[in-house]
Amino acid sequence: MGTIERVVVAGASLAGLRAVKTLREEGYSGEISLVGAEPHLPYNRPPLSKSVLTGDDDVALPGGDDLDVRWLGGRRAVRLDTRARTVGLDDGTELPYDGLVIATGARPRRLPDEQMSLRGVHVLRTIDDAKALREALAEGAERVVVIGGGFIGGEVASTLRSQGRQVTVVDAGRVPMAGAIGRQAGRWLAGHHARHGVELVSGVRVVALTGEGGRVRAVRLSDGRAVPADLVVVGMGVVPNTEWLDGSGVRVDDGVVTGAELFAEGVSGVVAAGDVARWPHGLFDGELVRVEHWANANEQGAVAARNLLRGVGEAERFEAVPTLGTRVHGTRVQWAGFPRLANESGLVSGDIDEGKFALAFTREGVLVGAVAVDLPKEMIRLRKAIAARERLSVTI
Ligand SMILES: Cc1cc2nc3c(=O)[nH]c(=O)nc-3n(C[C@H](O)[C@H](O)[C@H](O)COP(=O)(O)OP(=O)(O)OC[C@H]3O[C@@H](n4cnc5c(N)ncnc54)[C@H](O)[C@@H]3O)c2cc1C
Repeated sequence: MGTIERVVVAGASLAGLRAVKTLREEGYSGEISLVGAEPHLPYNRPPLSKSVLTGDDDVALPGGDDLDVRWLGGRRAVRLDTRARTVGLDDGTELPYDGLVIATGARPRRLPDEQMSLRGVHVLRTIDDAKALREALAEGAERVVVIGGGFIGGEVASTLRSQGRQVTVVDAGRVPMAGAIGRQAGRWLAGHHARHGVELVSGVRVVALTGEGGRVRAVRLSDGRAVPADLVVVGMGVVPNTEWLDGSGVRVDDGVVTGAELFAEGVSGVVAAGDVARWPHGLFDGELVRVEHWANANEQGAVAARNLLRGVGEAERFEAVPTLGTRVHGTRVQWAGFPRLANESGLVSGDIDEGKFALAFTREGVLVGAVAVDLPKEMIRLRKAIAARERLSVTI
């Protein structure tokens, strides 16, 4: 690839910010256009399901308001022409680029429009979503139904329980978060929710939300039940924002598919990072993975930007072990790697019944994942062991 003088970063959140910062740190002095669909400068999402809901508006990302870029906020990239090397925006602007960073992240999966438009139905992805949810809670919502027992659903449930609200979590899986943390830890999590007063309804789907006078009143379930609700939070996972790439030649398959160095497949001069990127992970036999965690977006933003500047020949592979930590009802739950890829798992420390334990997950004897509940030092050790592809003998 020739000299880079114009970089477009599409998506102004964590991965995009980190790409911008890295370009400058690496000495790139050319033009950077940062395009963000939200009107806000980059901010931090993790507080949205925690402190923001209880009144603290601090969502600052270090350096998020000090950017040496052409800032194009409140505008959306709507098309990519990889031959002409231009990104088209929804206001008609065409941005020429020599290098493009795709960091458009993901958005919440939704129920049909007529149900989402009922008052009292919320999703949680942006600061505006969080403030809208907080206002609705302040208006007095005693009975809250959280749809989805995943990471966001679990955090919202625990924040709202701490406010003394009646919380029901409806989850399609038989065990919450089994895909992310395995069935053993998932069963512990179900008990943990119950011990903290959350009603968990597992193994059922939401058929519809019913309303009255334009306001949600109940959640109808596939087993025939109707759970009364003053407020509903839809936490059914996310979908990557890739529609704007249709017809561009960039390969899209549950995210932007890249090589191990984060260059988008099928085109040149384009890298992807963060929740939108799906890449073959060298530590896991080249399995294509997409990760929706903070540290991943942060580290990928940096590596993608560096690789863009260096070019394919000198690019580094992205092989960080994905790691996530959350607190559910005050208990620290962490996981690393990909427990879902394992064919064996077992307890390596602590005691599940005491709510302090670590589990290891192996594939053909090689460690591919770990979960630690209130054992952060064990998580550090296991994460290193995953990176080193250590062999371990565990049984369920
Ligand atoms: C409520 C909540 C709590 C979380 N808590 C944690 C946590 O505790 N720990 C953790 O590890 N992770 C957590 N996460 C996940 C973490 O925040 C994400 O992994 C991270 O934000 C991903 O960053 P990103 O830059 O890849 O994408 P995003 O943050 O999704 O940002 C993408 C940006 O691109 C914009 N965009 C989309 N399409 C276009 C377009 N066509 N043109 C221009 N702009 C566009 C979007 O509006 C958005 O601003 C949480 C997420 C949420 C929502």
